[in-house]
Amino acid sequence: MDIQKTYYNCKEECFTKRYLNIKEFYNYLDINFPNKIEIGKSTEGNPIYLIRVGNGSKKVLIWSQMHGNETTGTFAMFDLLNIVKENSNEEAIKRILDEYEIHFIPVLNPDGAIEWDRRNALGVDINRDFNAEQSTEIKVLKNQFTNVNYDLCLNLHDQRTIFSSGYSENPATLSFLSPSIDLERSLNEVRKKSMGVISYINDCLHMYIGGKIGRYTDEFYPNSTGDNFQKLGVPTVLFEAGHFPNDYQRQKTREYFCYALYFALDFASKNEDLTVNYKKYFDIPENKELFLDVIIRDCPFLINKAIHKVDVGIQYKEEVNKSKTDLKFVPIVKEIGDLSKRKSWKDIEGNLITPIENKIKLEDVFNTFII
Ligand SMILES: [Zn+2]
Repeated sequence: MDIQKTYYNCKEECFTKRYLNIKEFYNYLDINFPNKIEIGKSTEGNPIYLIRVGNGSKKVLIWSQMHGNETTGTFAMFDLLNIVKENSNEEAIKRILDEYEIHFIPVLNPDGAIEWDRRNALGVDINRDFNAEQSTEIKVLKNQFTNVNYDLCLNLHDQRTIFSSGYSENPATLSFLSPSIDLERSLNEVRKKSMGVISYINDCLHMYIGGKIGRYTDEFYPNSTGDNFQKLGVPTVLFEAGHFPNDYQRQKTREYFCYALYFALDFASKNEDLTVNYKKYFDIPENKELFLDVIIRDCPFLINKAIHKVDVGIQYKEEVNKSKTDLKFVPIVKEIGDLSKRKSWKDIEGNLITPIENKIKLEDVFNTFII
């Protein structure tokens, strides 16, 4: 199946921006997925739903937005659901649906989604709450995990614009991680399977975004979901949506994210040994933090009648607007000084800027660089 062609025919047009309006989202689910199942409620009482497709004996669990401000995986999920719905006669889709029952949990953290907050309504990072279970939402996820014998788990996230694929000029538009099962980062069959799935996705994505794929550090997080699911014996793959040039709304990233989900299921449904090629996982460059959003090189400051030139590095802070309908990208100064080793998505030569006399004016200058 030509995934690119299929994607353009099936993309879910209801979602066009990065911010997810939760009321509109629930309406969308009521209309398009009347068979969804409510599996729990968030801290603030918002419903958490499960959508099931497929008739296979194996089970895969895919959940998104355990971090409320990470929507790209949710949109990619609904693109994929459209692809699956509209192409059930395609050989690859038929195989996936014959082999697997796919369980989707979109937006595990609806309270955080409303506020564009990583954390839940109490300020808990759900992905660091596996053992203490202080958040309602992790209990909902763990309950679902315990009730079904899953064969594969896909854990969908977003990452900041700062990440590059290794030390290259490329963003890590998509990153993957096979979480560790212990401090020694041991390799067992379970972990090798998830590495094998990632290697397959990486190979398939190469023709679309070769060079823009990264691998997260596999430091063991004893309180994280993926690490624990994998420790409990279910291969788990962490997906991270990152930056694509000039795409702060992450619509291109969303497209490749959907491809990646499709490739994961395509491979898993082939009944091949998933550990084949697991070693190629280590060929994927590690994520590095090379980028800032904007760098003003040799930015002139007028102090005591003398001009001082320094590099100014700016990172956008994403905030939801008051009416909770869209995001604002607020420029924040992150670094001042020699940034010659850092890259940016937008470089500005300081000689184009009128010397800045005070901090208030500095903020005015930054505001002109909002995307
Ligand atoms: Zn996350």
